[in-house]
Amino acid sequence: MTATVAGNVRVTDVGTEYDTHHIILDFGTMPFPVLEGQSIGIVPPGTDERGKPHFARQYSIASPRNGERPGYNNLSLTIKRVLEDHQGNPVRGVGSNYMCDLKVGDKVQVIGPFGATFLMPNHPKSNIVMICTGTGSAPMRAMTEWRRRLRKSGKFEGGKLMLFFGARTKEELPYFGPLQSLPKDFIDINFAFSRTPHQPKKYVQDAMRERAADLAALLQDPNTFFYVCGLKSMEEGVVLALRDVAQGAGLNWDEIGQRLKKEGRLHLETY
Ligand SMILES: Cc1cc2nc3c(=O)[nH]c(=O)nc-3n(C[C@H](O)[C@H](O)[C@H](O)COP(=O)(O)OP(=O)(O)OC[C@H]3O[C@@H](n4cnc5c(N)ncnc54)[C@H](O)[C@@H]3O)c2cc1C
Repeated sequence: MTATVAGNVRVTDVGTEYDTHHIILDFGTMPFPVLEGQSIGIVPPGTDERGKPHFARQYSIASPRNGERPGYNNLSLTIKRVLEDHQGNPVRGVGSNYMCDLKVGDKVQVIGPFGATFLMPNHPKSNIVMICTGTGSAPMRAMTEWRRRLRKSGKFEGGKLMLFFGARTKEELPYFGPLQSLPKDFIDINFAFSRTPHQPKKYVQDAMRERAADLAALLQDPNTFFYVCGLKSMEEGVVLALRDVAQGAGLNWDEIGQRLKKEGRLHLETY
């Protein structure tokens, strides 16, 4: 399937370690229905060092089901340009650099959509707790925006939305500005910055522990759904923080944790 680039803007401050782009792909008249929490595959042009076509890279959809612009057959992605590997050695990631360098009007090969688990609840009063780092914010942006549109329609009574969003500094947090302007009674936002000069390191799990009382109440509500997305390394810390919150409130974590998994209310997507 071919999509056309309809927009490509940088959404973090300038800095070699965190060049993140918001990219809009348009499908024209081609049907490409998607849901919040799904991802798509991008096939970079050309071949790898063995002369084989590049494998597809997966990117989470950052826009709601009815389009980045409501009523358009388009979607958005949040892509971090990879310039270092996980060990910190310089490298130019094939897919992310291809995507971040695209110009409006360029054509992109797309496959998918993928994902049938990281989907949001659609019943009224369902609570959504979103825990993310970096580009893990993409599916959270999609869910938040869908809820915002539903709320605007006046026909849907949403439950609580709570967001824990971590980055090294606020400069490398995608969508920092727009997030600040969302109404407080719509979404409860908690930032955690691990490398702000002259401030103690704070990770998403620290922010979660600070909000233990509210999280404990949400853990006990069968209408609450948890979504975790971002770096692989955050997964363990976040699950441990949830356990501590539960135990601190005198709840049986083994029981709650099992139930969350069984009922599809705890979703982890890290890469
Ligand atoms: C379900 C899913 C959803 C994803 N959603 C997003 C998303 O919304 N936004 C996004 O930017 N990425 C997302 N990714 C990661 C994305 O698929 C690519 O892995 C990433 O863009 C790197 O691809 P590349 O071709 O640029 O690097 P490659 O050329 O594949 O790799 C170059 C080197 O960089 C290392 N590397 C790979 N990924 C990273 C990374 N993220 N950080 C640092 N080093 C890395 C590799 O180990 C390798 O050594 C997602 C992955 C999955 C599985």
